Amino acid sequence: MHHRSRTPGPKLLGVAIAAVLGLGVAVPPAFAGPAAGPSADADPVPGLVAGSDTAAPQLVTGLAEAAPGDNPAEAARAYLAAHQDRYRVDPAQLAEAGVERATDGRRTVRFEQRHGGIPVFGARYLVHLVGEGAGQRVESAGGKYFTGLTAPTVQSVPDEALRRLAIGAVQDQAARAGAAAEDHGLVVLPGGAGRLARHFTVRGSDPAVWAAKAQEVFVDAAVGEVALSYEVRAPYPVGAPAAAAAAAPAVEPATGTAPDALGRPARVNIGRLPDGTYQLVDLTRPATVTTYDAAGRDELDFRTLPADALPAASATTDFPAATGTSGATDAHLNAAAVYDFYRDRLGRDGIDGKAGPITSVVNVTSFGEPMNNAYWDGQKMIYGGGSGKYRPFSVARDVAGHEMTHGVVEHTAELVNLGQSGALDEALADYFGNAIEVTSRGIPMTDPRAALLGEDLCRTGTPEACAGRRLDDRRTTVADYVGAPAGVDSGGVHLNSTIVSGALWDIRRTLDPLLADRLVYRALAEYLTPLDDFVDARNAVLAAGRALGLDRAQLRTVAGAFDAHGIKDGWQRRIGVDSRPLMRELSTESAAPDVAAGRWVVATAGKGAKGSMAVYAGAVAGSAEPARLSPEDGRSHGWPATDGTTAAWAAMGPGADGTWGMEVLARPLAGGPVRSVHRGVNQFLGDVRVSGGDVAFLLSDHTTGRSGPVISRAGAPEVPIALPEGHEAAGLALHDGLLAWTESWQVGERTVSAPTVYSLAAGKVVAQYVVDDANATAGTAVGSLRMAGGRLLWVETPFDRTKGSTIRSGALDGSGVTDLLPAGPRPGTGTGTDSGTGTEPRRIAGLTASDRAVTFAEADRQVTGGTKNADLPKLWQLPLTGGTPERMSCNRGGQYLPVADRGTRVVWLDATAGRTDLVVRERAAGTC
Ligand SMILES: [Zn+2]
Repeated sequence: MHHRSRTPGPKLLGVAIAAVLGLGVAVPPAFAGPAAGPSADADPVPGLVAGSDTAAPQLVTGLAEAAPGDNPAEAARAYLAAHQDRYRVDPAQLAEAGVERATDGRRTVRFEQRHGGIPVFGARYLVHLVGEGAGQRVESAGGKYFTGLTAPTVQSVPDEALRRLAIGAVQDQAARAGAAAEDHGLVVLPGGAGRLARHFTVRGSDPAVWAAKAQEVFVDAAVGEVALSYEVRAPYPVGAPAAAAAAAPAVEPATGTAPDALGRPARVNIGRLPDGTYQLVDLTRPATVTTYDAAGRDELDFRTLPADALPAASATTDFPAATGTSGATDAHLNAAAVYDFYRDRLGRDGIDGKAGPITSVVNVTSFGEPMNNAYWDGQKMIYGGGSGKYRPFSVARDVAGHEMTHGVVEHTAELVNLGQSGALDEALADYFGNAIEVTSRGIPMTDPRAALLGEDLCRTGTPEACAGRRLDDRRTTVADYVGAPAGVDSGGVHLNSTIVSGALWDIRRTLDPLLADRLVYRALAEYLTPLDDFVDARNAVLAAGRALGLDRAQLRTVAGAFDAHGIKDGWQRRIGVDSRPLMRELSTESAAPDVAAGRWVVATAGKGAKGSMAVYAGAVAGSAEPARLSPEDGRSHGWPATDGTTAAWAAMGPGADGTWGMEVLARPLAGGPVRSVHRGVNQFLGDVRVSGGDVAFLLSDHTTGRSGPVISRAGAPEVPIALPEGHEAAGLALHDGLLAWTESWQVGERTVSAPTVYSLAAGKVVAQYVVDDANATAGTAVGSLRMAGGRLLWVETPFDRTKGSTIRSGALDGSGVTDLLPAGPRPGTGTGTDSGTGTEPRRIAGLTASDRAVTFAEADRQVTGGTKNADLPKLWQLPLTGGTPERMSCNRGGQYLPVADRGTRVVWLDATAGRTDLVVRERAAGTC
């Protein structure tokens, strides 16, 4: 239920998967109704919802159009072909992906889109049929089908390079070591023209970072760059060998008694083995329910059930005390209760809908410590044994229902675990987990504790204090949506889930609970598709309501619940911000912006740039549209920098001669020819900087092992800067003829770092400030170098997390250091209950400076699992001469990668509005 974040996420700030894929904002519904505004009589179910970034509609309801035939899939395909003027769906690009038959006989035909035979990521189109044979009719249809795809279908980057890039997408070095990439083949990522990508699942071997985690990585197969990456919710693929089960001996059904976690005796369905002993195997249902006791073994041992793992056992029908204290009895009873809820109430035969086995593993530990968590791993439920204030996690029926519902989602809507679609998955798991608990335990919806999730887990404290979430928290999109990067809580999947589950819970409280459960289940099983967002979910539930025969008043109740939680068209535009947007909806991977003299540059994918990353430029003042600066040459263009006159950046992909490589390019902002500064094959080029016509970059040559800064002065040949043997440079800054970097080298066991300044005119180092605490056992990170106001600024952050970051500055001639911001306790951001205590050490994430002001990014507290807005960095500004930092902006979401222009003006990437925008403010906001 709670996901931990041990692996730092990829450098992908796209908060909404639609934005990552460049799908654009949802277009207002093109409902062909009367032009007047909504009235009390208006149909709450939209008749036609236009698609986003496609000509195919997202949803068409209220139909009764003939689709005769005995084969539902063939009839649906012929129907779409006959109505191409409306659907714009090419039947030749549809692959049948199954037919779902509901208890009332309706069929949902599910198609997957192909582009030249290659699956399109997340694209599903659904057709709903009623009636039979010659009288068969289409009642509604919709989903995601992308009509603008022109991406290549042939891979141009070698397999091995793609695999290396996939593993390289894992930022953490420890996690990268020993990681393996499972290859799923080619897919087309939607968004504009689409991108051909190779899909990998990256799993590592280091348990300290990889326990129960995996990363989905999509690498652009035309230019060789990571296009999309996010954490897998269920780390083990559906259908992987289940092991152990095959070795289980034949059992016959029996009943027995087992103590629950509180020691109370409970009747349990068990299995009798040939040797006369018993196990927690329930054979009374079509799906076999089996419960294993891990007896404190590590969760990693249960990636696949080990051969020596056995279901919880007993010599007699009277199970021992340990069956209760481990949580096994509760898991066994809860798994059966969840199965019964889905079967009896909703007509679903288990997690996979086909009576597949239902397996729980209780009492696991994690890294040798008690585990206070539970998750669905793609095949089974894994429950921690609890510790301290927590009971075993299997005691909470809502937690069991939550995890098993993730399995149901995986077999139905297949929601992608990122941003809004991931938050929808969490919301559905919360809704059904809660519904299963209150229904099976007879708790009325009016009970003050009916909305709590996980409230049974606490040994001490009140249920309210203990509950992980509550569905009556009244959160709304506009007031509460937290824009988070993919690396934090998979883009806020838990941070934002109750916005939707709260609306669903309100429907359950207001309508009849059984009707609400059938409504939400029908939306999940028959209407939702993998990339759907909050508004798609609203429309899916309303369409399901019409299919279920809800009357006008009931449908208005449903629409009203979504309205009350701000889930309606255009909610992102209503989120208040105190910054001005310069460019909206960036895909933002590798898109650190730059600004100088009122002109900015940024890289983003989509935006008509044929899928790959492209460099855009614009002016801070005025309203002119951003202009694309990089050529459309099939390569990926990123890491741009500007001095206000010229932009420089790195391009990646096949060159004119077809060989794959990188190139540093430069071009005047006013337009004109693109100049090649440096082209290298088998070289990595990064950290591009430009100042007064000089261009600097970092070069790392795979074949020679040579690496270091390279400077290219206007009109002169490029000059590599030689560093002493064993020294490395990182983090370039270039300003008025001076180049700065962080130089590091080993002294015995420890790493020494030194902010270093090099004069281009003199051709030598003119200042070096060595950071070498010989007593430090862990060392210090030195970075974020900037030159401003005649000084060099940098951030020092000890690896020892009990010590805080410091901002230091030194004279450019090496004559002395002062502390600009000492390592005091971090300030609280004042964002209500999320706000930090103000006593933790500072952890500064990035710094920028003008001649007047220093601006830095800092989260209120360290990322501890990505569950609070306080985990997301906010910007702070103080005078270059020192002083107290003030909030740069009171925007509530994540604020990233600030760059200073003149004076106090700062440009940054802001995720507050439910997507990532490039924004600007002229001065600090002060106190928020
Ligand atoms: Zn969950």
